[in-house]
Amino acid sequence: MDIFVLGSGGAVLPGHRFFTSILVRSGDINVLIDAGSPISKRLYDLGIEKLLPQYVFLSHYHIDHVEGIFTYLYDLEARGIKNMPIILTNESTASKLKVALGVFVKPSLHPEIIVFKDKSEEEIRINHLKIKFIPVRHSVPTHGIVIKDVSVDKSIFYSSDTLYIQELSSYIDKCDTGFHEATLPIELEEKAVEYGYHSSPRQALLALSKCKRKILIHLTTLSFKNPIGHKDYIAAEDGLVLKI
Ligand SMILES: [Zn+2]
Repeated sequence: MDIFVLGSGGAVLPGHRFFTSILVRSGDINVLIDAGSPISKRLYDLGIEKLLPQYVFLSHYHIDHVEGIFTYLYDLEARGIKNMPIILTNESTASKLKVALGVFVKPSLHPEIIVFKDKSEEEIRINHLKIKFIPVRHSVPTHGIVIKDVSVDKSIFYSSDTLYIQELSSYIDKCDTGFHEATLPIELEEKAVEYGYHSSPRQALLALSKCKRKILIHLTTLSFKNPIGHKDYIAAEDGLVLKI
C-alpha cells in the first residue's frame, strides 16, 4: 500500500499546510480519505494525478474535509474522465453533501454515494480491501476509517476529527500505519469541547498506541506549542509519501 499525504492541516490556523486529505493506493484501488482543497493541485504537485480515486471517504461535513470534492469533479470532467468517484460517507454528511452538490455541481457530475449510519460501526468489502467505518466523537456525526488490504494483511487507520476516545485503540488492533488528528496543544486538552472537539498530540499517541507507525495529522500552528514528551511519531507534512 502507498500513502500520499495531500494535505495535513486543520481548518483553523493550518499555517503552511493544506487541509487534510490522504490518497491510499492499494493494488488497483485508490481511496481518497477526506477532500481538503485543492485536490487536483495537490495530486499534480505530487505527480500522481493519474491515480484516480475510485472511492472518496468523507469523514464528516466540515468545510476543511469536503471542500475539495466539488472542483475535483469538474476537473475530472475537463480531463475527459467519465467515471466519477463513489463517495463513502455517513447519513448526516450525505444529506448535506447532496444539498451542496445541487448548488455547486451540475447533475451529470453528481457522484454515487454509499451511505452508512451516523452512529454505528460498519464494514464493507471492495475486492481485496476490507473497509471499516468507525464512529468517533466530534461536533457533527463523524467517522474514522480502517482500510485493510487482506492480500498483504496490512492496514491503515485514520481517526478524522475527534475528541480523545480511550477505547479507540481497541478498534485498531494490528494497525501498520495510524493517522490521528492532533489539533490542540496539550494545555487545551481540558477545553477540547470548547475548542471544537479535537485532540492533542499526547492524546493522539495514546489512541495510536497499537499502531506500528504513528502519524499526527490535522495539525495547526498550536499543535506543538508545548513539548509533548514523545519521540515515536511522525508529524505529517503535505507531500509525505509512505509505503506499508
Ligand atoms: Zn477538520
